[in-house]
Amino acid sequence: MKTTYLIGFTIISLTAYKFCDGTYKLKTREDGVLQIEEKSEVPHVIVTKGKRSVSLVKGHRAALPADEMKPAYRLTGTCSNVIIREWNTKFGTDRTEEAKDIIQKTCEVAKEKYLPFVESKGYYIHNRTPVYTVYVSLLPWDKNRGGRAYRGLNDTTWRFFDRSSYCDSAGRRCKEGETPLDLSGLSDRDEGWLYVLNEIIPESWRVPFVPSWQAIFVHEMFHHMNWRSGVFHRYPRSSMMEKNALDEKNAREFIEYCGYRE
Ligand SMILES: [Zn+2]
Repeated sequence: MKTTYLIGFTIISLTAYKFCDGTYKLKTREDGVLQIEEKSEVPHVIVTKGKRSVSLVKGHRAALPADEMKPAYRLTGTCSNVIIREWNTKFGTDRTEEAKDIIQKTCEVAKEKYLPFVESKGYYIHNRTPVYTVYVSLLPWDKNRGGRAYRGLNDTTWRFFDRSSYCDSAGRRCKEGETPLDLSGLSDRDEGWLYVLNEIIPESWRVPFVPSWQAIFVHEMFHHMNWRSGVFHRYPRSSMMEKNALDEKNAREFIEYCGYRE
């Protein structure tokens, strides 16, 4: 079947990546918009625009070589297992010491509050000191500020094409044809990767529209910590869907327990 999508954003050059499964051919229309023509057998897309050739990757969530911040930024102390691998500053906060300080302190709060929180709930903690690493990507998220552009947090055409889409804040799945809500955070527990908005310090005029970065970060960290400590696996629920729903409820409560507000 012939599939046609339109994309109209700036594209950077990337190399093919072995895990991606996108298989499309593109051409440039007369008005300069890139158009996907049909499926092909290559795992990435080569686009020729004038003299430039670029390729797009579909379905690879983790940072690609071109996305990576070099060097990566490892947090310290109780958060030394958390590494910022990608910090896209477009429409977001610059890589300042002040921003790094907020990240460090927020992570410390999440770490400090986690065990008391799950203990207060009476959950069985299989491993109190799990060894694991969490990689972090800080990404544009809002549709008007680059969130839906290629490799953004709400790029559901390429990077997160296979993520679940929600159409209200209570977690209702979208019906066909509905436009999903923009996410401000997303955790991939299997990959050990956490994706959050890059607006750590919101600019004053944006404040009413930007969720608290701290709230989003501790929420997403909760999902990882709960997975690694084995609390998730021992939830008194039978299906994965029920466990996920309970984990989401707890992650939301955890925000307040940490002293933040959504
Ligand atoms: Zn969540």
